[in-house]
Amino acid sequence: MSDTAHPIREIHTDGPFAGAEGWWAEHELPARIVYWGIHAACLLVFVVGVSPGLLLLLAATFFVRMFGITGGYHRYFAHKSYKTGRVFQFLLAALASSATQKGPLWWAGHHRGHHKYADQPGKDVHSPADGFYYAHQGWIFDRRWDKTPTAQIREFSRYPELVWLNRWYPVPPALLALALFLIGGLPALVWGFVVSTVLLWHTTYAINSICHIWGRRVYDTPDTSRNNWLFGLLALGEGWHNNHHFYCASVRQGFRWWEIDVTYYVLKGLEKLGLVWDLREPPAHVVNSGARRDLAKAA
Ligand SMILES: [Zn+2]
Ligand SMILES: [Zn+2]
Repeated sequence: MSDTAHPIREIHTDGPFAGAEGWWAEHELPARIVYWGIHAACLLVFVVGVSPGLLLLLAATFFVRMFGITGGYHRYFAHKSYKTGRVFQFLLAALASSATQKGPLWWAGHHRGHHKYADQPGKDVHSPADGFYYAHQGWIFDRRWDKTPTAQIREFSRYPELVWLNRWYPVPPALLALALFLIGGLPALVWGFVVSTVLLWHTTYAINSICHIWGRRVYDTPDTSRNNWLFGLLALGEGWHNNHHFYCASVRQGFRWWEIDVTYYVLKGLEKLGLVWDLREPPAHVVNSGARRDLAKAA
């Protein structure tokens, strides 16, 4: 397959994806200013100070939005590992987009590309094969991935509200930032949005960088994915990344009882409430086949 026929780069400017991008997808400088500006604004913690209440706000805005990314963008939109209704589907997408990681079709479409071309240099969206920095955050400023990879996420394009959110992805984070400022002033904005968003970025990126470099390999996948317990906890179960690459259709990424997977526990709770259904569990032979192996040590 030639580079020009690479499906990730197949961008449609008509049909349901017309208007899938806002002007900000075409302009790199504003995105860089906002991205590094939010990083620099973390220094405002020295101005506003800290309190137990602010740390609680940080934890809440971090973990709730992280669930939007893991339970929404990743396990629902990218992998369709469970089902839900149209309203809850939109609420998940809106919550996830408040994490400031662009829109649902862009995120999930590129993530499908990551599984399809995992660790193939120049083809995988974010692989340590292209260097640690590139896998971690360099790729988000690579113009090749600016646009929504429409061919990879076609089935969700029939929902105009998702196409709208994919174009107007700055709206939910801007509303969150405004609400925090109006309710709690500058301290709430700094801890509940600025610091929280930067931690969300780098914890999410770590799945693409660290979880392809450091950790246990229990499944002999054709990529470099690893199980990393620290990011299993911080990223609500996403750190069991070798499990996930081996059987990515599963709603669970922690396959064993001790592989803590909070996203899965929350989804089981939502299932009891009737908000989500048809959760796809990993087959027993998949779980058992990797139970006691550590290929990284054996190698
Ligand atoms: Zn991966
Ligand atoms: Zn995935």
